[in-house]
Amino acid sequence: MNPFLTEEHELVRNSVRCFAEQQIKPQVAHLDAKEEFSLELTLKAGQLGLYGMTVPESYGGHGMDFRSFIIAIEELARVDSSQAATLAANETLGIWPILNFGNEEQKKTYLPVLCSGQGLWAFGLTEPNAGSDSRGTKTKAVLSDDIWEINGSKIFITNGNTEITKGATVQTITEDSNGEKLFTCFLVEQGTPGYYSKTMKGKMMWRASNTAEMYFTSCKINKDQVLGNIGDGSKIMLSALDIGKLAIAAMGLGLSQGCFEMALKYSKERKQFGQPISKFQAISFKLAEMAKKIELARNTLYKACWLKDNSQPFSYEGTIAKLYCSEIAKEISDEAVQIFGGYGLMNDYHVERFYRDQRLLQIGEGTSEIQRLIIARKIGC
Ligand SMILES: Cc1cc2nc3c(=O)[nH]c(=O)nc-3n(C[C@H](O)[C@H](O)[C@H](O)COP(=O)(O)OP(=O)(O)OC[C@H]3O[C@@H](n4cnc5c(N)ncnc54)[C@H](O)[C@@H]3O)c2cc1C
Repeated sequence: MNPFLTEEHELVRNSVRCFAEQQIKPQVAHLDAKEEFSLELTLKAGQLGLYGMTVPESYGGHGMDFRSFIIAIEELARVDSSQAATLAANETLGIWPILNFGNEEQKKTYLPVLCSGQGLWAFGLTEPNAGSDSRGTKTKAVLSDDIWEINGSKIFITNGNTEITKGATVQTITEDSNGEKLFTCFLVEQGTPGYYSKTMKGKMMWRASNTAEMYFTSCKINKDQVLGNIGDGSKIMLSALDIGKLAIAAMGLGLSQGCFEMALKYSKERKQFGQPISKFQAISFKLAEMAKKIELARNTLYKACWLKDNSQPFSYEGTIAKLYCSEIAKEISDEAVQIFGGYGLMNDYHVERFYRDQRLLQIGEGTSEIQRLIIARKIGC
């Protein structure tokens, strides 16, 4: 038993593991090949109670702690990063800003459906010319006669254009009465005139997760669709990214665990020179290194989540967890492919997909370079 977890957390793990093995695994190769978002799996995950895990029951959620959610993400990513990404983005980037910065009416309007698996909400921060540097946002909102008009575009937005996407939180530039630039977030519903979203195809990874571009052309939004206050944009987005980083870390951990299990099993079955390849020290040391890294990653991530669950600062620990878990996912998936030899390069074997899926983890929700920048600043460089 990990000291940061309880027996209830292990029950969550067992139930999500069964769901992932029984419901997701049989479909995963097909969805990856077709680059297809699965409504069916999203609805089933909703029925199991995986959507809105950390949301109070009064808003339609399940009132669980953050570690339970992280374990769910880890277990989904152990089998399929795409399903983990759909859930993670909805909870951390979709739900979290509304739950923590929305007014009562906004929470009552949007949260119940987002906690059911029957609706998804996206988070539009990144723009074609504003990635790591989100202060380079160009999407503009101008107020006139109590109506906001938004113009601009967003790119790479997870869950931005599925058949059940209900809308997105969109970061814009607004101006105060002195002409000073302020970042402000709006809740933009799908189907709002002037708002158009389009699925991006051709991803090497997370191929069953929806990624979209968003376009705003004279898109008119009521005043009551501002999230938080005018000028709260950066605060909202940074807070969502702090949570999102933990989910990306959980995806790195789960993916690493999945690769390790597949490689260990294969190494005991595959015989060369008259013995299982696991008997060669070169192979067993690779597996030992994997086990070591997974243990360290798990403790680092669970510690950050324990801090969050206990209302203590967790941003620094979360940054380290995001950086470490995403980077070991790269190393471990690479070694897993090596252990599978030529078969590891064929898409009949799951490690090939895991090798592709891990690549986003060092880029999304702040690249590894940006995580190192944050750590370097914190330690006083
Ligand atoms: C599948 C997918 C899903 C995504 N989902 C979402 C989403 O839901 N919502 C959303 O808003 N965004 C989303 N993103 C966008 C993602 O967060 C960005 O891709 C990421 O922040 C990096 O921005 P960029 O791609 O523009 O790279 P850039 O910022 O252009 O970076 C390019 C390179 O320069 C490096 N670099 C940049 N600045 C520095 C610096 N100061 N010091 C050192 N190196 C630096 C980076 O580390 C990187 O290696 C998603 C992206 C993908 C691919």
